Amino acid sequence: MNHLILFDIDGTLVAGGPAKGAFHHALLEVYGTAGDVDGLDFSGKTDPQIARELLSGAGLADEAIDAGLPDLFACYLGELEHRLGDDPVRVLPGVPDLLDALSGAGDVALGLLTGNIAGGADLKLGSARLRERFDVGSFGSDSEVRDELPPVALERAAGHWSVEFDPGRVWIVGDTPRDVGCAQAHGLRSLAVATGRFSSAELASTGADHVVDSLGSTGAIVDLLTRLVP
Ligand SMILES: [Mg+2]
Repeated sequence: MNHLILFDIDGTLVAGGPAKGAFHHALLEVYGTAGDVDGLDFSGKTDPQIARELLSGAGLADEAIDAGLPDLFACYLGELEHRLGDDPVRVLPGVPDLLDALSGAGDVALGLLTGNIAGGADLKLGSARLRERFDVGSFGSDSEVRDELPPVALERAAGHWSVEFDPGRVWIVGDTPRDVGCAQAHGLRSLAVATGRFSSAELASTGADHVVDSLGSTGAIVDLLTRLVP
């Protein structure tokens, strides 16, 4: 394995689905408030970070927030699973073909790097029949801070494939400035894709290594991600 490609989930691989409503429901169940759930920008944030920002904004202390997180996420996962039956996530254009092509390239390892807690990632990607495409991942349940997730993914990838990946051949693919930022924090490459809330111009201004409008140009993206750079 020469290359490791780590994909974000929401806005990158899939869109839509019932997660926000399920999260809102679980916040109300466990804390009695969801804070400013319609006003907060969720983009690129981890699930526990979103919970903390919403609940802090509603006046809760960190100790009270921390005490409720296990119940919050248990409630969220139950609600998410229930709701996904009627409202599955939508796979974004080009994603299955790109994953096929990368898997077929032979020396490309595929993983996840997402702010979703692991159980939420499993449910969302399972509803889109994409979960089995990824052998490793790092998740919002590993750290509340997205910038701390790349080393977790690299360690799991090294263990899974028995390879120490060269940082110059590790790409993070995501739809927000936070995806780009967590790659930059660790000297990894970043491919930003404008299928979420951010435009190509906004993503280009982050200093991403490459920006695309969608993951639809399979051949060009495979060439980019598997290029051997000095
Ligand atoms: Mg995203």
